[in-house]
Amino acid sequence: MLYAHPQGHVFYRSMNHPRPMIAYGQGIYLYDESGKRYIDGSGGPLVVNVGHGRTEIVEAMTRQAQAAAYVHATMFTSEPLEQYAAALAEMVPLSEPRFYFLSSGSEVVEGAIKLARQIQMARGQERRHIILSRWNSYHGMTLGALAVSGRPGLRSPYLNMLRDVPHIPTPYIYRFPLSGEELAGRLEEAILAHGAEYVAAFIAEPISGASLGAALPPDDYWPRIRAICDRYGVLLIADEVLVGLGRTGTMWAMEHWATTPDILVTSKGSAGGYFPLGFIAARGADVEQVRAALGDFNHGGTFSHHAVGAAAGLATLGILQREKLVENSAAMGRLMGARLREALAEHPHVGDIRGRGLFWGVELVEDRDTKQPFPKKQNVAHQIVDRAFELGLIIYYSVGCVDGVNGDVVMLGPPLITNAAQLEEMVALLAEAIRAELGD
Ligand code: PLP
Repeated sequence: MLYAHPQGHVFYRSMNHPRPMIAYGQGIYLYDESGKRYIDGSGGPLVVNVGHGRTEIVEAMTRQAQAAAYVHATMFTSEPLEQYAAALAEMVPLSEPRFYFLSSGSEVVEGAIKLARQIQMARGQERRHIILSRWNSYHGMTLGALAVSGRPGLRSPYLNMLRDVPHIPTPYIYRFPLSGEELAGRLEEAILAHGAEYVAAFIAEPISGASLGAALPPDDYWPRIRAICDRYGVLLIADEVLVGLGRTGTMWAMEHWATTPDILVTSKGSAGGYFPLGFIAARGADVEQVRAALGDFNHGGTFSHHAVGAAAGLATLGILQREKLVENSAAMGRLMGARLREALAEHPHVGDIRGRGLFWGVELVEDRDTKQPFPKKQNVAHQIVDRAFELGLIIYYSVGCVDGVNGDVVMLGPPLITNAAQLEEMVALLAEAIRAELGD
């Protein structure tokens, strides 16, 4: 059974893609209505951090929903919200941090951009309004977040509706072996070209997420970017929507380079998929300055600071800490890298294998020597995703990394509870799917 409800009334993003009806999930597995088992090798788009079927989270949400399912953030606070923020304050590397809770990655990015603008206004830097960002990046679906995103394929229908945001290149060492100094230098050039006094912030993903499939920067990249932002009074926004909360083997991906942003946003895994949740983290002093100078943070939403969401986030964070899942992500990540390389490094159509923690990307190419990508019309990444799905493995993918159109990456990003045996099975199934589509 492919279309669960061919006569149904739902429409989706991928309109030509059939989908079975989900029955339930447990641990790293999902089961459809027919009883078929799938390994959730990517947690959808890197969401399911603590696994499916965690009754502890469901119970925490139920308790709060029964007590008071909804109160508006302009009128009440709630116990789980205050507790969650206090717990997060212990683990976010910003001094005296404050948190603003929303419902998706796109929303926290929008909020962070506006907060950066308001922090600059509160500092008396009224002219600073430009947000700099990078190509080969994704920050969200809303028009503001899409404007800072660097994915031509997603932007193209809306180009004349998007604010013209200056983009610099993203580290993509497999194809562009530039040094950290050269790459960071592009930020300084952009700041100077637009006038430092007009630039409010620079937003970027610490490790490239869906657009480049876990491409890592050179080791000196982030410290250099930090120094440039400081030199010109530009705020650094780390978009940890995908890579935050243990995904890459540290709580925050920026920790790999001992770099602290001014504003940090995260979302996907924060409530493990049990509730749509994300948050903006900022330094207490900056938030206080906005309050003192401007009175309010001029940004609000009906579902912000949701009490049930906070209960889900707090319970998810509890599991992450108690089960030492960040440590597991680091250990399993090393194994995943090794196994992927054993299984695929010699494959004639595997160009690059890259990643950190439990987030890995495999870039597929037509020709390994020239790094020539497959033509888009061959739909290689998509075919592999479909084949893996048939084999019972869910993976994530991205197209367009080479030039906005061509370039195929498939990704693994399983729940952080994954053990070694499960990981071996995932890698074996991924290799089988790649071989089935592209030969030996
Ligand atoms: N930022 C990053 C780095 C992402 O990967 C995504 C989603 O993939 C977003 C923002 C947008 O998040 P959402 O899809 O929850 O709106």
